[in-house]
Amino acid sequence: MLLGVACPACFAKECNSILTVTAAEAAQHFVHKGHDPNRNAALNQHIQKLWQSGSASVFECRVCGFGFAWPFTAGDAAFYNLAYPYATYPKSKWEFLRTLDVLATLETKGKTALEVGAGRGHFLDLLHQRRLLRLCDVSAIEYNNDALPILAAKGVTTFSHDIRSADFADKQGTFDFIFMFQVVEHMDDVDALFKRVQTLLKPHGSLFIAVPNKTRTDYQERHGSQLDMPPNHIGRWTPDAFRAICDRHGLTVQAVEFEPFDAGGFLLQDIAYSFVRRAQTSSGLSGFVRSLPRSKLSRLAQGAVAGMLFPTRLAAWREAFANRGVMGGSLWMQARREQPDHEPNSARSV
Ligand SMILES: [Zn+2]
Repeated sequence: MLLGVACPACFAKECNSILTVTAAEAAQHFVHKGHDPNRNAALNQHIQKLWQSGSASVFECRVCGFGFAWPFTAGDAAFYNLAYPYATYPKSKWEFLRTLDVLATLETKGKTALEVGAGRGHFLDLLHQRRLLRLCDVSAIEYNNDALPILAAKGVTTFSHDIRSADFADKQGTFDFIFMFQVVEHMDDVDALFKRVQTLLKPHGSLFIAVPNKTRTDYQERHGSQLDMPPNHIGRWTPDAFRAICDRHGLTVQAVEFEPFDAGGFLLQDIAYSFVRRAQTSSGLSGFVRSLPRSKLSRLAQGAVAGMLFPTRLAAWREAFANRGVMGGSLWMQARREQPDHEPNSARSV
């Protein structure tokens, strides 16, 4: 336990360090040195600048279970350009469909919404197709310059500013719905985030969030698969962590659910992730094929070597399947703004 490290979600000081990584290990996680040594070196330097140190830790709160990088510092645009130059946006996700199902039970005619991290607008397309909201009533925040014109062409009002910035300070009580899918786990200063969300929502407006499922992250890290490496993801959210921070900011959590377990998808991902993890730290066959230039042949070679890991994963898979009720990929939650005028309180709900 390190005294002085307080949980960003519930403020408890009972936090344990569960992982320490160097900037070199983090850089190797995002960009394999054998694949692109220059980008790997630039990333290593940039991560050290973000951390103001050669290493960072991940802590876990013993009260609400929230996991968080320390320093609790998010990746910036330069980090993402180095670490993820090829951004991809899945067309559909379980959390999209789960949220649409809830919206279908609510009055949505003429309502307004904001999506934070809208990507190319795949969720907004679904909203439009199901005639739940008019896209002219929807705003979207997105940093990717390629995605902004795509969103604007749909009729959405676009912003490329942080939701916590002064640009949104005058939009109090503007939105009936706010959506944040696979966004919150990347963000620091989460108190400012939830405070701003509460003020942007209309009274009785709803917030929908999806994040990676921490139970699955814990499984991966315990069984030699991919680390959930900072400064990409810096928050590992739990139902109790959401309840604690929502309670402090005048939001009531109405539902929290794990994505249903998809056995086939899980097995494929587990093989791929454990192969990549092995390649990051190995100078053997895994590391060699992972460092080959991108090509169809290198992908086939990676697939073949990954397949050889099959027998080594059986014990881990037994554990995963025994806990499949909480092993889905995402954690989803819905919260509601209850009061028109909320005074933040310091009490915890857990
Ligand atoms: Zn906590």
